[in-house]
Amino acid sequence: MSTMDTRLMALLVCPICKGPLTHDHEAHELHCAADRLAFPIHDGIAVMLEAEARAIEDPASQPPPLAE
Ligand SMILES: [Zn+2]
Repeated sequence: MSTMDTRLMALLVCPICKGPLTHDHEAHELHCAADRLAFPIHDGIAVMLEAEARAIEDPASQPPPLAE
């Protein structure tokens, strides 16, 4: 039933720009290159909420230290 996966992924567009998302299998996130946002996937379910998304940092930069 691989058609189910295809159909599911087809529905996964960015809620902000409606653009296609890239599935990051290692990070369990869906990335929007246009908005530079990553939407988390919890237990196999993508959380398509801007409030839950994190900004995608430049790959060359390190994550910023936590604020005090
Ligand atoms: Zn987007």
